[in-house]
Amino acid sequence: MTTFEKVMAHARRTQALSQVMGRLGWDQETMMPRGAAGQRAEEMAAMEAVLHARRSDPRLGEWLALAQAPDAAGQAQLRLIRREHERTIKVPERLASALARAASLSQGAWAEARARDDVAMFLPHLREMLALRREEAAAIAEGGDPYDALLDDYEPGITGAEVAKLFDALRPRLRALRDRVLGASTPAPLRGEFDPDTQLALARDLARRFGYDFARGRLDLAVHPFSSGGGADARITTRIERSDPFNCLYSTIHETGHATYEQGVDPAHALTPVGQGVSMGVHESQSRILENQLGRSRPFTGWLFSAMREAFGPLSTPDADAFHAAVNRVQPGFIRTESDELHYNLHIMLRFDLERDMIAGRLAPEDLEDAWNHRFEADFGVAVDRPAHGMLQDVHWSIGLFGYFPTYALGNVYAGCLDAALSADTPGLEASLEQGDPSPATAWLRWNVQRHGGLYEPRVLIESATGAAVGEGPLLDYLERKFTALYDL
Ligand code: ZN
Repeated sequence: MTTFEKVMAHARRTQALSQVMGRLGWDQETMMPRGAAGQRAEEMAAMEAVLHARRSDPRLGEWLALAQAPDAAGQAQLRLIRREHERTIKVPERLASALARAASLSQGAWAEARARDDVAMFLPHLREMLALRREEAAAIAEGGDPYDALLDDYEPGITGAEVAKLFDALRPRLRALRDRVLGASTPAPLRGEFDPDTQLALARDLARRFGYDFARGRLDLAVHPFSSGGGADARITTRIERSDPFNCLYSTIHETGHATYEQGVDPAHALTPVGQGVSMGVHESQSRILENQLGRSRPFTGWLFSAMREAFGPLSTPDADAFHAAVNRVQPGFIRTESDELHYNLHIMLRFDLERDMIAGRLAPEDLEDAWNHRFEADFGVAVDRPAHGMLQDVHWSIGLFGYFPTYALGNVYAGCLDAALSADTPGLEASLEQGDPSPATAWLRWNVQRHGGLYEPRVLIESATGAAVGEGPLLDYLERKFTALYDL
């Protein structure tokens, strides 16, 4: 065995164990009995300890110093394995296990606090998660910016300052467009009651149309839709509301984007660091482009209008144009995951500023509710009416995901870039979408983005797929084009 082969054998087993731990997380959010929460936290902490020991194994460090990659893919593997090794050795095993245990318990507490609108119930968990993550970030940053250290875990290579600059560039045109849209007359929403089983059947059909392979995945219900796993087992979840079928249908398309990314990576890289999505931002670009640029487009909603009439009977929207307007209705709502495309990035900017302040120690958990509510009213013009509509709405901070939110907006920016390139490359796309067939676009994404897995750094990947520098321009152009037409501005 060459030293490189030793590194890869070690990495494959680590990756397999990491998939097992991911499946425990999937189980926790879909199937686990409520009474198992305490035991599950111990199981997660034990798995984390095993993974931590493998990733920080001194033998791995010695091999990495000597290993010679046989080709470019091998070099990418070594780069990713080295990065993970170097991060892990800075974090004591005690802290890694404590984080996994606390996150598992905190997530359950958050769900209950959210259901009861009880901030006080959640605060001790938030305090602990923040303290643990700040300790970890400081250890990794070694004197640098702790927030950057956290961000780097989700979007390698980008800094908080770069994100802030991007947001400053996005904000003015986004707000100006939002204000013009809100000044115009609001289209009617889709009204009615929609049978849950029929919603789920249509959601499955949509997942298939957008390229999801059910032989290597499954669709279940969860409180907060998510996707998990990879390779031959990439699972998705959705949720169902009787009065709002778009919640289920578009959550499903969104998660399908994540899962088809994982399913689309070249199987030659299975169970290796290169064999998965390269970053959360690129991941989000795959889900957002399916959900928005394709799924909420006029050609595709034209098909969906017919499909929904066939499934549910007559709809409250009289024709395909009214249906398209209902799908893309702009309204300053409380909930990020139900937000329209114009308000979505404003939700992210709010969270980015608040979490950066928390990690820097400028904002204490007990002051978060006030800070959130003030900022929300300033940005959205509406006062938060209850904590479940405010600081308790997202799962992320409860499980220590600080530095994660910006990747959602980055994903939107990447999706804007990719959409401009794939539209130019795919002349028959609109006609295909009118038939409910997004496959020319999903094939383009598979070829230009997904199959590469972690071979290239995120920005390099997007720029080589699009042939242009990453920037906010294409996203803003797309939004202005779309909503100017929709709202007759
Ligand atoms: Zn997503």
